[in-house]
Amino acid sequence: MARHIYVHNPFCARKCPYCDFYSVTDASLTKAFYKAAIRETELAGPVISGTAGTNPVADIDNRDTVYFGGGTPSVPDSRFVCSLLDSVVKAFGVASDAEITIEVNPSSVSEEKLADYVQAGFNRISAGVQSLDDKVLKTLGRLHDSKGAVDALEKIRKAGFENISADLMTGVPGETPEGIRRDIDVFRDLGVKHISTYSLMLEEGTSFFDRYGKTIEELVPPEIEREMYHGTREYLQELGYETYEISNSALPGYRSIHNSSYWNSCEYFAVGAGSHGYIGDVRYGHKDDLSAYIDEMNKITPEEYKAFLEGNMKDMKSLYVEEILTREDKMREVPFLRLRTSEGILLDEFRKMFGVEFEDVFGQAVKRNIGNGLLERKERTLRLTRSGLDLANKVIEDFL
Ligand code: SF4
Repeated sequence: MARHIYVHNPFCARKCPYCDFYSVTDASLTKAFYKAAIRETELAGPVISGTAGTNPVADIDNRDTVYFGGGTPSVPDSRFVCSLLDSVVKAFGVASDAEITIEVNPSSVSEEKLADYVQAGFNRISAGVQSLDDKVLKTLGRLHDSKGAVDALEKIRKAGFENISADLMTGVPGETPEGIRRDIDVFRDLGVKHISTYSLMLEEGTSFFDRYGKTIEELVPPEIEREMYHGTREYLQELGYETYEISNSALPGYRSIHNSSYWNSCEYFAVGAGSHGYIGDVRYGHKDDLSAYIDEMNKITPEEYKAFLEGNMKDMKSLYVEEILTREDKMREVPFLRLRTSEGILLDEFRKMFGVEFEDVFGQAVKRNIGNGLLERKERTLRLTRSGLDLANKVIEDFL
């Protein structure tokens, strides 16, 4: 069984007004954070080596993955990031053919940093472009303009990255379907193999929520937002990008193996303040508290860490248990995770995992959603229809 490791790098140059991911803009704890994260990998490596393989789901691509997300991993000095990757690879015994991703922002990436990432072993890169329209970028409060984004993508390619992903935000006030298509054309011409398209969400606690919470439906009517979503998806398909998950499209051979592991209920280990993992039956997290994380990782003993991961410890200063999953919980997670994917729920896989037919457990919900035209059965799979895609959350809730 492959190992999947997520590393949260909780530093950003500036907080974007729509973002609710955990990150800080004060860089004073950078060195202390990376030292603590290296200690965490050293504590966790031996534990996860012993538990990987307990997950009953076969991975689609049985390769190890490491994902450096954030925050913005390209903000800190690349020496910190690369030392942490070195520690992760050694501590977890990551295979030499692993998919190793780093997220970067156009405003903080440089030729020197990119050369260091390649040298350290990163072989996939995800650029937070969001748009190539300067007005949209301004609305989103991004630090780069479209020229900066194109320059960054060119530098990424020149540095030797071939597996390149870029993020695109849809449903932003002032954005147009034509503009999105133009952005996609530019991405394609610059060698971008994977495109993540996220609809702008207004999360409580963000400044966008205060600014647009009451007016977003006037600025971007839901039918326009949906038209943009479907239009984008169709255009990507025309260009050969397969939409393999609600928000993710890739040219053949370039799906994100790391993200696919989440949708396949695979175990994944988490490093860093604000990160979340899943080992055995335990979904766990690290609190959104950088100081608590540093303090805990400097003090925790290997025995305490192991006991925590095995579900035998109460919450600590930074580490906490989110949920201990029962067999029923794991069954419910299958529609929750798999209905986001283009393949949908694999009925034979479900039977292999749990020893029962999916419809013996969820028969009512299946019947109701097929009847409403939101779900369709194709041989031994169940997936969302086009209308189901628009009401994905409602369909998924029906299975919970
Ligand atoms: S750069 Fe990314 S992680 Fe940082 S605040 Fe902006 S959207 Fe959030």
